Amino acid sequence: MKDFWKMPLAELRDCAAEETLRRHGRTVTYVVNRNANFTRVCTVGCAFCGFGKRPGTLGATSDRIDEVVARVGKTPWVTEVCLQGGIDPELRPEYYFDLVKALREAFPWMHLHAFSPMEIDSLCEKAGCGPEEMMGKLRAAGVGTIPGTAAEILVDEVRRKISRNKLPAARWVEIVQAAHRAGVRSSATILFGHVERWEDIRSHFEILRRVQEETGGFTEFVPLAFVPYQNRLGALLARRAGGIKALEERIRRRAMRLYPLARMVLGGVIPNLQTSWVKLGVVGAVESLGWGCNDFGGTLYEEAITRSSGGKHGEGLEPEQIEAAIGGAGYEAVERTTVYGSVEKGLFPRRKVLSASCESAS
Ligand code: SF4
Repeated sequence: MKDFWKMPLAELRDCAAEETLRRHGRTVTYVVNRNANFTRVCTVGCAFCGFGKRPGTLGATSDRIDEVVARVGKTPWVTEVCLQGGIDPELRPEYYFDLVKALREAFPWMHLHAFSPMEIDSLCEKAGCGPEEMMGKLRAAGVGTIPGTAAEILVDEVRRKISRNKLPAARWVEIVQAAHRAGVRSSATILFGHVERWEDIRSHFEILRRVQEETGGFTEFVPLAFVPYQNRLGALLARRAGGIKALEERIRRRAMRLYPLARMVLGGVIPNLQTSWVKLGVVGAVESLGWGCNDFGGTLYEEAITRSSGGKHGEGLEPEQIEAAIGGAGYEAVERTTVYGSVEKGLFPRRKVLSASCESAS
């Protein structure tokens, strides 16, 4: 049995490229989706985040439900809406249920990919119930899948350094398992390129493997590179690294090894490995297709979370841009649904080509 953790990088990447070809051929999938970030108010204060705003500070606003519905209505052709926000103590559980119901009513063809385990943890606390009951309620309201964000690194020692108020690793696992048991699948993520060590990444992978072997509920694995520009953690790590360029290079080197490792270590249980053009840029995302990725992610109209941390790669791509990037690298682009099914084109309204990427987030 080969030890992929110790393998020289070039050999590891060759293995990953070969394995991806064997599993997925030259097909690279993507989804036509949008974000709808309904609140920037957040009391958690993660050091890597430029999106959440403390209550009462500039930009700390939550949207009315009709405002969110109106924004989503500007892109009625999307097949998926990703709903995520900060942790606003003033937003009652009914707001979340009503938001989902309003979107379902207005756009019954859209899949709602909604609320991270951190948001679900906070909803449980507000409603005084456990994750199983909460997931049942969210599913009944119309949630289709949940984003597996807030995982960061599933090692509490690391979590304490980068987001000490966030839910503990075991609670993240408990909520994801509850979702999967309720029939609500999720993505799996990792936030890398900050203070984590390779052994932390290894522990993280082992936890994801264990959950997947038990529930089979992960649709894909999405490594997310740390964006270091407009947040406390980035400023600290850039100082330590001797400048932002040195830090950028460290994050890039980590990405080049992490993607092929994910393909070789986790690909047997989570076959879909998603790149992130928002974090890596289109050029970096295309490059990562040779490192084991088989999914390009989504059009992500109204991307605001990465942009708020100084992400430099825009707030939405058109399907043609994604298809050109994938095709230009010699792969075949195929649009997919959230859960990796094929898209029945006739079910969705015709798309207007937007002149700019999309409107700003809240
Ligand atoms: S990552 Fe999420 S929970 Fe953490 S501060 Fe940002 S919005 Fe709040």
